[in-house]
Amino acid sequence: MMARRTKIIATIGPASEDEATLRNLVRAGMDVARLGLAHGTLDEAAERLTAIRRIAAEEGRPVGILVDLPGPKVRAASFGDDSVPIVEKSEIRLTVGSGCSTASVMEVDYESLLDDVLAGDRLSIGDGRVILEVSEVGGDQLVARVMHGGFLSGCPGVHVPSDRLSITAPTAEDISSLERFLELDVDMVAVSFVRSAEDLMRLPVEPHPTGPLVVAKIETRAAIENLPAIIEASGAIMVARGDLGNECRLEELPILQKEIIRECIALGRPAITATQMLETMITNPEPTRAEVSDVANAVWDGSSAVMLSGETAIGSDPGNVVATMSRIAERADDEFDHRSWASELSDLRLTDRGEPDSAVTDAMTMAAARALAELSVKTVLCISGSGFTVRSMARFRPEARILGFSANKRTVGQLTLSWGTEPLHLPEEGSIEERVASAIATARDAGYVEPGELVAVLAGTNVRSRSTNVLRLELVSPAA
Ligand code: PGA
Ligand code: MN
Repeated sequence: MMARRTKIIATIGPASEDEATLRNLVRAGMDVARLGLAHGTLDEAAERLTAIRRIAAEEGRPVGILVDLPGPKVRAASFGDDSVPIVEKSEIRLTVGSGCSTASVMEVDYESLLDDVLAGDRLSIGDGRVILEVSEVGGDQLVARVMHGGFLSGCPGVHVPSDRLSITAPTAEDISSLERFLELDVDMVAVSFVRSAEDLMRLPVEPHPTGPLVVAKIETRAAIENLPAIIEASGAIMVARGDLGNECRLEELPILQKEIIRECIALGRPAITATQMLETMITNPEPTRAEVSDVANAVWDGSSAVMLSGETAIGSDPGNVVATMSRIAERADDEFDHRSWASELSDLRLTDRGEPDSAVTDAMTMAAARALAELSVKTVLCISGSGFTVRSMARFRPEARILGFSANKRTVGQLTLSWGTEPLHLPEEGSIEERVASAIATARDAGYVEPGELVAVLAGTNVRSRSTNVLRLELVSPAA
């Protein structure tokens, strides 16, 4: 029986921030907790981070923390708790404000709304529940016609086409929130509405693993155009289908999802597939058949992780959603065609951009993948400083279990996102001999491998270099 290999990210929100639910999520298989900053105070988010770390330690499961910087996310002022009908073909006025919204006047919390939006622009409210077309811009308001009516409640997002927005990601607010979470040693940080690699370079972070792993959310048209440079400048990528679906035609989404993931695989970056994966489980105990297929297909596309948003943040049964996603992903993982993946990957190798480290790691992990398959080795131990070796190995989607060892605790936290990887802390910092022996002993003592079993070990001989230059096939010795 195989265990699940694809990782699960769950968004924490009002429905899941209490102690008992957080513990349920950890037990049900949450690998990474996503903290959004769009609602609530920074102090509240920081408290959640601390609580999740404590619960994960108590449960003995590694759980990474991802803070998601909202970027220039525009929202309408509250429509209240009950759904307000927005009637098709009616007219609605939009003003700048954050008081309250009605069916005839919607207040929007975006200062430059009137400067940025032009007549003829389409605005999507609440992820497409209502579509408006702006007919007039004047004075202190926009006048828009309701092209598609629907019901709105709470504070729905207002999607302004990203090439119209004058503010760019990361915003000043993103950066000040980030500073707070850097003090708390957050493992990963996601940046919303990235348009170029330069946007990522404006983050005041050190390169990972010292700094957090930076996740670029692909959700603007510009990001699609600048994809290779963005992937290269990031630690991981999120296919942010919610906002991306506002920026491109919906029928392009499945194709973009496959293309973005493929490009990530080529560059050894984990890819996260996100949004509406089990959307109907916000209220229902069972997903739709289409949702089940979506999760499985995201696994077969090569996602390192699949993400839950509203399902766990505001849904009626977050623990059940994680358990359901875990079962679907595990079954899809089980059916994953490891052999044809590895052979196709030879066309998608880490491109050598004048970086000898990448080329060496590429060749070594390729050799390891072959050895694992040919010798039916059940476990590969990767000893890594920054996690680069582990992520490079995971690209090959080996059937063998991947143990990702690092002496750096930051790397261990960041490896929670990597496909098929069980992150482990390696106390030994010594010579290559000592590190290999220590990793094998740790794996044996924790019950991952048995004495007498053949295992593969991948490591670098130089602690400072990023490259992997040792592949060993060793028999596990009996405990001393
Ligand atoms: P969000 O990002 O949930 O922060 O909007 C994901 C998406 O847009 O799909
Ligand atoms: Mn988004």
